[in-house]
Amino acid sequence: MEIQPRSMPSEELRMKQDFNKKVFVNRSLTLENIKCYGFDMDYTLAIYKSPDYESMGFELLRDRMVSIGYPHEILRYTYDPSFPTRGLVIDKTYGNLLKVDSNGNILACTHGFYFLKGDDIEKYYPNKFIQRHDTDRFYILNTLFNLSETYLYACLVDFFTRCTRYTNLHKGYQHGDLLMSYRSMFQDVRDAMNYIHDTGILKDRTIKNMEKYVVKDPNLPVLLTRIKEMAKVFLATNSDYTYTEAIMKYLLESNTKPGSPKMPWRSYFDLIVVDTRKPQFFAGGTVLRQVDTNTGKLRIGTYTGDLQHGTVYSGGSSDIVCDLLDVKGKDILYVGDHIFGDILKSKKRQGWKTFLVVPELTKELQVWDEKQNVFEELKRLDVFLAEIYKHLDIGSRECPDVSSIQSRMKVLTYRMDMSYGQMGSLMRSGSRQTLFASQLMRYADLYSSSCINLIYYPLNYLFMAPPVLMPHEAASQNAELASSDLTVNNHAIKN
Ligand code: IMP
Ligand code: MG
Repeated sequence: MEIQPRSMPSEELRMKQDFNKKVFVNRSLTLENIKCYGFDMDYTLAIYKSPDYESMGFELLRDRMVSIGYPHEILRYTYDPSFPTRGLVIDKTYGNLLKVDSNGNILACTHGFYFLKGDDIEKYYPNKFIQRHDTDRFYILNTLFNLSETYLYACLVDFFTRCTRYTNLHKGYQHGDLLMSYRSMFQDVRDAMNYIHDTGILKDRTIKNMEKYVVKDPNLPVLLTRIKEMAKVFLATNSDYTYTEAIMKYLLESNTKPGSPKMPWRSYFDLIVVDTRKPQFFAGGTVLRQVDTNTGKLRIGTYTGDLQHGTVYSGGSSDIVCDLLDVKGKDILYVGDHIFGDILKSKKRQGWKTFLVVPELTKELQVWDEKQNVFEELKRLDVFLAEIYKHLDIGSRECPDVSSIQSRMKVLTYRMDMSYGQMGSLMRSGSRQTLFASQLMRYADLYSSSCINLIYYPLNYLFMAPPVLMPHEAASQNAELASSDLTVNNHAIKN
């Protein structure tokens, strides 16, 4: 009898798809207690289409580099979305890209597109460790906007390393009298990035082709309308008024479900603040001014009055938002995509409740599901290793040979990492978590692939965090697991 391949039962399929609609919980939170919802705009309400948007950013950036004098040959590079991962660190001294954990231990390291092996990494970084708080040397590429910049920097290092006109030095390249340090290259890329943002080139291109670059979800007006019935809603974006207006019109005014009333985009919010300059916004902030919505220009003077409905403000601070809306920090749920500028700062400085939007989660969940067996084997090997050492004590002279287990772990980690992309997962490398993952767990109360996933929960929902056991609490459970899992055999290890 022929055996038919098993198709996934519809219930199982539904469950899997549902994970992409889920809001995940680091700390329990009752929506009923939230009196005010704040939203960031770029990459939060406005989700940019990947990789088209990053590709466009990369091309603008690359062309700018050529126009300031970089060799025309770099025009040959095109954006490869499989290379960069958010949260990588640039070492301005040696031109390397690093993936690190929360303590600065290096999980992966590339020079251009060349992946350094353990011994080579140690030559640059004794102990495979960096002082990641040394901001003069290390720059963390925290945002989705940084992806094109991450890739461009790797392209430049790749180009100059291979180009015979340039001599490779320890801290850069030499061409005749010209020394080009990794540090100055980094600064040129950063300046070019600021240029494409600040001059409005990137924004103009986006507005001219909204369908190509911005996700339009008819559930967004539904979400905001529903929230506004129950709580106050504000928008706080670093973008300027003109761009905010263009994007929000596209998302809210041309995007309602059939039969729903068409409303001006500004009426979805109780307060709109543009040019917020986060992260400063969550500390001292800047002067609060009113925006003339007819011209997009700022009114002179500092605004000192009460909240005026329909008025758009520029600048200000999180304290001013609380005053204008008459809410306390603990009653606010702020939704943003920037782990540092939106989430870490609003939580650490103001005690706001936080919701991190992680668009990469869709892919992360898909790979995680497909590669569960690899991770399970990694976990079993971890337990197996622990078991080997468990029976030794200070008097033991024998030294167990665990090299085959360690090589197997390396193979599995590599296999798992490559399923996500060349730089691996946003969250982990094998069983070790990235800096991004640890910040996400520490500062984001909730997280999800999109803020629109809130529509799948009632507005009095109690998000319950799963209980997390500390190692001493989990010890007895691990012991149980170890005894039942000691079936890991040598065959698996040799493979
Ligand atoms: P938000 O996420 O809505 O707060 O807005 C992000 C804003 O920051 C957008 O207007 C971006 O154009 C701008 N932005 C993002 N990255 C950079 C950068 O590296 N330099 C200058 N502006 C940036
Ligand atoms: Mg944003």
